[in-house]
Amino acid sequence: MANKQSVCTTCGYNMIGEMPDVCPLCGAKHDHFLTWDEVEKTYRVTPYRVNDYVAQLVSVPRLGFEHAAYCLDTDEGAVWIDCPSAFNRDLEPINAIYFTHPDFMGASNQYRELWGAKVHLHALDTDVPYARPFPVDRQFYGDFSEGGLEAFHIGGHSPGFTIYIYKQVLFICDYAEPPGAKMRLNPFGPRDETLRGAERILEVIAERSLETVCGVNFVTDFESWREDFKHLIDRVKSP
Ligand SMILES: [Zn+2]
Repeated sequence: MANKQSVCTTCGYNMIGEMPDVCPLCGAKHDHFLTWDEVEKTYRVTPYRVNDYVAQLVSVPRLGFEHAAYCLDTDEGAVWIDCPSAFNRDLEPINAIYFTHPDFMGASNQYRELWGAKVHLHALDTDVPYARPFPVDRQFYGDFSEGGLEAFHIGGHSPGFTIYIYKQVLFICDYAEPPGAKMRLNPFGPRDETLRGAERILEVIAERSLETVCGVNFVTDFESWREDFKHLIDRVKSP
């Protein structure tokens, strides 16, 4: 891995190639950047068990905004949803990375090269300027299901925003946060489409008996999350 790559410690964005002057994602200056190998020495991607088939992955110490990625043990092997910002070469290999949207591409290009992991991102999200440097093996459209993992295209916060369901777990990333009565829809994106997407999420989960919701920096109980999410939609519709 002789590749040049640096990481913004303010937001966690990975910059492939020559180090730029400012971070393309958050605008921090280059004195906030570390090379990927310095990052590997400093930050440990650490798994926390959610249940027998899902683990949450976060950096210790926290790296920038710090988003969680999730490791799922499926019948067809281990896969990730979203990707850690730190590249740790000694993690357990996975077969594929499925992205919710392009804000957290992390070090996916390096994991892809190391393990041959296949990267999946909705076609509508591949053209975002800060996602363009990252290789994507499969640009998908719409909903799909494979290896027991179900993907639902939602849009809104990003045009290709996709949520996932695996067994009893819903993966929602940063579509709405934080969990609880203060939950709000992600403000970065067109408001009306984000609301329409939220209504579609309610439809998708209506008939499901789920147990857990995994998000950008939280893991929470499904039933109470759904109540708060419903109330949020009502509040946005009739403030
Ligand atoms: Zn986002």
